[in-house]
Amino acid sequence: MTADFRHFYQKSWAERVAIVAEQTQLSAAEQALFKKYYLPQHHDIIENYLTDYPLPMGLAVNFVIDGQAHIVPMVTEEPSVIAAASNGAKIVKRAGGFRTTLKRREMIGQIVLEQLPDPQQTAALIESHAVRLLEVADAAHPSLKKRGGGARKLRTRILGAGYLSVDLFVDVQAAMGANMLNSMLEAVAKSIGVLTKTAPLMSILSNYATASLVKAECDIPVGLLQAGRYSGQLVAQKIAAASQVAQLDPYRATTHNKGIMNGIDAVAVATGNDWRALESGAHAYAVQAGQYRGMSCWTTDGQTLYGSLELPLPVGIVGGSIKINELAQLNQRLLGITSARDLERIMVATGLAQNLAAVRALVTTGIQQGHMHLQLKSLALAAGATPEEVPRLLQQLEQAPHQDLATTQRLIATLRRTGSTKKEETDD
Ligand code: NDP
Repeated sequence: MTADFRHFYQKSWAERVAIVAEQTQLSAAEQALFKKYYLPQHHDIIENYLTDYPLPMGLAVNFVIDGQAHIVPMVTEEPSVIAAASNGAKIVKRAGGFRTTLKRREMIGQIVLEQLPDPQQTAALIESHAVRLLEVADAAHPSLKKRGGGARKLRTRILGAGYLSVDLFVDVQAAMGANMLNSMLEAVAKSIGVLTKTAPLMSILSNYATASLVKAECDIPVGLLQAGRYSGQLVAQKIAAASQVAQLDPYRATTHNKGIMNGIDAVAVATGNDWRALESGAHAYAVQAGQYRGMSCWTTDGQTLYGSLELPLPVGIVGGSIKINELAQLNQRLLGITSARDLERIMVATGLAQNLAAVRALVTTGIQQGHMHLQLKSLALAAGATPEEVPRLLQQLEQAPHQDLATTQRLIATLRRTGSTKKEETDD
């Protein structure tokens, strides 16, 4: 452990690889991995760039959203996500598809003032200058106004303990808007500093994007939900019950919501969007009533299962690294979208489809049946199977009493030795 990491960010790519190799004693084959996934255009996106990190990208199918058919590119390493999204979307497609609503698309940023002896008075002073401050915001990023966007509203909130938040609402058009908004906020903060004779504590966008809400809904005739020996009506009742449990219990709600974000994050990554921003906003929205709850809601009257999901989804189709990410651009074409609003609609529908499939499986056959087939493929590959060996291995693994790494490795060894896994079958 002797390598020198000082000024690492100033080193060339080859120097960085050499330093890391020295520090961690990498073999030539290990170093070659950096080269294998290296993309020169990514060099300047992040600090200390070494290489890219590949993740699988696939397509979820069967989506009908607001009367339009969509295919949905997803980037995820979790085997069952795309199958579940396609499965949920297929059921909803038979029921006529998803409906979405999106009222407005504005980002909110905060300028926080501190140590105010009279926050109410300061708030009143700032609000009386709102028009001028909105002009200052627009002047800090004039191209946004030219595109039809710009600063829309200013609001003050007294936070207590001498703090005041000045919230700026901005129509960020086709972008997610974080950087644009932050530039506008810093300009407004300077003006507020002069106006109030105080130095603001900080200026930054809020990821609690309550002015960028989008909702997906669907009405499914219960007959479409039948699963194995479970009638559609019973499945609908069980899905509604599972939804109620997620409203009552944060332990269940967290997993319920993880399933929803499985779909949304995978589309966010595929389109070059900031999934951390979406995650933080979505979970904050899930606790808006004071207790963390399931993000979606399912109810039934015995004939129809009604589903809905509303989330803040401030995404962009431009900005950030999207323009230099060829696959993110291509995925916009696959999605058939030309606006950030369209992307929000597809993402929220994907979350609801994902949730429907997961909860339906959970309350009927159990989650493992669908999961395990796909997980076993990953297990076979992780144990060293070649793609040609996987189908035969899967047949054996599905029968094996233990579906673990050691068993899989033994099955592979037997397959290679005898051309069959039969012996292992009897061994186990
Ligand atoms: P950018 O800083 O890239 O700004 C958007 C760019 O898109 C601008 O250059 C703008 O051009 C251009 N653009 C082209 N066409 C349009 C259009 N129709 N509408 C709007 N803009 C257009 O990205 P964002 O401001 O969107 O910020 C997103 C990035 O910020 C993400 O990478 C995110 O990870 C990061 N971020 C997130 C934070 C958070 O979530 N808390 C905090 C800080 C950064 P022009 O300049 O001509 O207007």
